[in-house]
Amino acid sequence: MGSTSRKGKSKKGKKVRVAFRRNRAKPPRHKDWTRLAKDAEGHELDAPDGEQLVAKGDLSRRRTIVVHEGGDLPPNLKRGTVVAMRGLYANVDDGERMLPCTISRVLRTRLIDERNPVTVGDSVGFRLETRNGHTAQDGVIEFVAPRHGELCRRSGRRNQTIVANVDQAIIVASAAQPAPKPHLIDRYIVAALAGGVTPVICMNKIDLDSEGVAAAILARYEPLGYKTLAASASSGSGVDAVGATLKDKSSVIVGQSGVGKSSLLNAVQPGLKLQVGDINEQLDKGRHTTTTATLLKLDFGGYVVDTPGIRSFDMSAVPRNEYEAFFVEFADHVPHCKFPDCTHTHENECAVKQAVDLGAIHNERYESYVRMFEDPSVKS
Ligand code: GDP
Ligand code: ZN
Repeated sequence: MGSTSRKGKSKKGKKVRVAFRRNRAKPPRHKDWTRLAKDAEGHELDAPDGEQLVAKGDLSRRRTIVVHEGGDLPPNLKRGTVVAMRGLYANVDDGERMLPCTISRVLRTRLIDERNPVTVGDSVGFRLETRNGHTAQDGVIEFVAPRHGELCRRSGRRNQTIVANVDQAIIVASAAQPAPKPHLIDRYIVAALAGGVTPVICMNKIDLDSEGVAAAILARYEPLGYKTLAASASSGSGVDAVGATLKDKSSVIVGQSGVGKSSLLNAVQPGLKLQVGDINEQLDKGRHTTTTATLLKLDFGGYVVDTPGIRSFDMSAVPRNEYEAFFVEFADHVPHCKFPDCTHTHENECAVKQAVDLGAIHNERYESYVRMFEDPSVKS
């Protein structure tokens, strides 16, 4: 364990595994994972006050931080959940009401190299502003709890966390109009898995599917162990199963524009998307107009994060040499490749390619891998 040398300090703390800040990763990447893991072992990363973090090796893509026992929230702060962001303004739900908040300068400085020091889904600590001796109805976020389950994408030269603390990503595609793009589904799957989020594949518009296209695609993912759903927001078919999947969980909904994400959400809970209007109104001060994600509360339990502003994923947030780990069906074959640093693209005697030829790996899954590997930055 890379943290052994610092154990003394962590006596009172609780170790938490959170996302690794990639731009802090040292040393430069190698193709050899074994060497890479060894090199990274014990490398210290800078830590916010009261926390320590140690790289556990690039393979895990996680850092271990130590937070104070009995919850991580400093006692002088109120707890809330970030429901929407606009620039550096956040809407925070404290369980009773929605409060507009800014982010403290200390927090912004501390997390200076993160694109989203605070993001939708974050569990935060805030204090209410006081003006002229009175408590105001807006706050300042001073603490962000360690994250689990996050979806990141590349934005310019930085990784951007779109949403934090989600359990699952509902990847929506449609049987027709638009036609499904399995390659895009695979990109979302990799993005989800890389962030510690469980992917669920949902084919919508099955009412338009006379050819069985949806079933054929779902049949590709079921054997890989992924949950699959077939639904029609229009006819209502399969909508109950979508609701049951969302119940009591925190989920993010992703997928191409036009596949029926909004329609599905409204079929699951009529009027659900109307909440978005309320939230945006509060945040709208005329200046910050881009909203990328909104956390919506389900009446029957659970949360969904709607991502209307996110049309595509630049996969370069995930290092290329890690893709193979997120194609689960490659795992049994990878150890049999002739070259230990085989990328399964151009190499001879590649066990992954042989498995594709034998039909043990789906041809299009393999093609997705190669396309992603060759051009992570393609925005589909
Ligand atoms: P989003 O961009 O993914 O949120 O997609 P929308 O929910 O806005 O839906 C895009 C279009 O597809 C709309 O015209 C919907 O009426 C239509 N649509 C959504 N779900 C279904 C469905 O299950 N069947 C059919 N035939 N059309 C649907
Ligand atoms: Zn190979």
